Amino acid sequence: MAAEVARRPDAPALPFHPQILEASKAPQTAKILRWAGLTYAPHMSAREREIDFFQRVAQVKRLLGESRLVALRHETLNLLPPGREVSWEVVRGLRWPGGDPVGVTLEVPVWVPARAQRLKTFCGFEKKWQTVALACPRPSGYVWFVRTMREVNNKADYRPEKIQFEVNSRFAPLAAVLLEYIFREGWYDPSRRVPLLSVRMGEDTYAVSAASGPVTAECLTFPDKEGASMAATVAICNYSSLAEIYHGRHAPASNHRLGLGMDLNDSNYPGVVDGVPNPISRAIRQYNRDGMHKLDARQMPMWVYQAASWMGCRIPQSWTYYGYETDWEHIDVGTK
Ligand SMILES: [Zn+2]
Repeated sequence: MAAEVARRPDAPALPFHPQILEASKAPQTAKILRWAGLTYAPHMSAREREIDFFQRVAQVKRLLGESRLVALRHETLNLLPPGREVSWEVVRGLRWPGGDPVGVTLEVPVWVPARAQRLKTFCGFEKKWQTVALACPRPSGYVWFVRTMREVNNKADYRPEKIQFEVNSRFAPLAAVLLEYIFREGWYDPSRRVPLLSVRMGEDTYAVSAASGPVTAECLTFPDKEGASMAATVAICNYSSLAEIYHGRHAPASNHRLGLGMDLNDSNYPGVVDGVPNPISRAIRQYNRDGMHKLDARQMPMWVYQAASWMGCRIPQSWTYYGYETDWEHIDVGTK
């Protein structure tokens, strides 16, 4: 279907639809992705954009033959021999009946702040992220780094860019529709731009290289770990390398190890109090998603979770991480 695009004089070049790298190796996935691209018609209202999103999601689910997303978890686990710790490094190399590999690299359009800097990410089946940061076993995509809060929140100066990450090929078309929807909102309405600087999906342990050396970056910090106070101040943080900010390790039972979990704007800022964007947190303030987004645009606003929930994903509000903590960056296919 040809997409007509409204070109305002100040509009950036034509957006591109999500695509997988090396599409010829995953022809079934590439075919469904061609149907997944959103419409960019002139003057689409917010409601028209929502309806287009619903229609694409329904169409992709029909083509996948899935109605409940958790089936993707069960189908992926069924490909594995029982008894071993699940690793994305193994899962990604398996094939679906029909021949597509389970692991693919998806590229999607994102908004990034003006001076955002691209960093390669690496991943491996390692117990510690430090091993990945030092040895850089295998490139797995990239993230965008921004130094100051002023740049983070200056939506008018954002530019359209791309981001890459690995994902389960059966989940890729749905992830593509959601992430393109997040991008397209900012195309029509700059106030709805959400900078997606990191999207982490299929992996065990990942990090950027520790070779950057010392780095200074700003992040918000709050008066306490639990309360509702929105009295954020800017902390100026010094770290030994960028890997202290960009790293992670997923639990063996995590949907990330199957390529079926999604961490939006994953980062770490050691030393700040409840100010890391989309944190694992027990604070009441974090439920005020639109308020948090206003303070730090990297925080996901409520409409992003709403769209993920409409698609059938499990969202942070619908389950508890440990104890009373909520994992605000994590969206996935569920477990039951
Ligand atoms: Zn996650």
